[in-house]
Parts: sequence; C-alpha cells; structure tokens
Amino acid sequence: MGARAFRRTVEAVGKPVPQCPIRLGEPCSLCEPGVTGPEDCGLVWLVMTDPDLRERLAGLRREEAAARRPMGGATR
Ligand code: SF4
Repeated sequence: MGARAFRRTVEAVGKPVPQCPIRLGEPCSLCEPGVTGPEDCGLVWLVMTDPDLRERLAGLRREEAAARRPMGGATR
C-alpha cells in the first residue's frame, strides 16, 4: 500500500473519540473549561483520586454493564 492510499485509509477510519470516564457511554465533549480530553480533565482527576467517588463510579459501571446483558444482567 502506497503512502497516499494509506493516508486515505486512515482518514476514512477517522480519529478515535475518547470516552468520558464520568458520563458513562458518552464521548468526551470537553465540557470542562480548558481541557483537551479526559487525560487532563479536573473532574476525572477528582473522581479517580477520591476512593468513595471512584467506588461509586465502579458501581455505576457494573450496573450499566449488567443492564446491557441479556435478561437485564440476571444470572442463573
Ligand atoms: S471534559 Fe471531563 S467531564 Fe467533560 S466530557 Fe470530557 S472527560 Fe468528561
């Protein structure tokens, strides 16, 4: 594959969209002033460095993952 074809392929695929770790299932919308993404987001830092908030977020992720499973996450 030549460089031109490779560039067209990369452009067709596009850039990956970072997901917001806080707003589950949503892409980062740069809602915090001055951020460039989740990697320098103050809210993400705050949640991830607070054990209680981090555990609450983990619980929300578990609930969301269970809701996405067939039968609403019910196990046999
Ligand atoms: S700026 Fe932070 S809180 Fe806002 S969407 Fe992006 S990662 Fe989430």
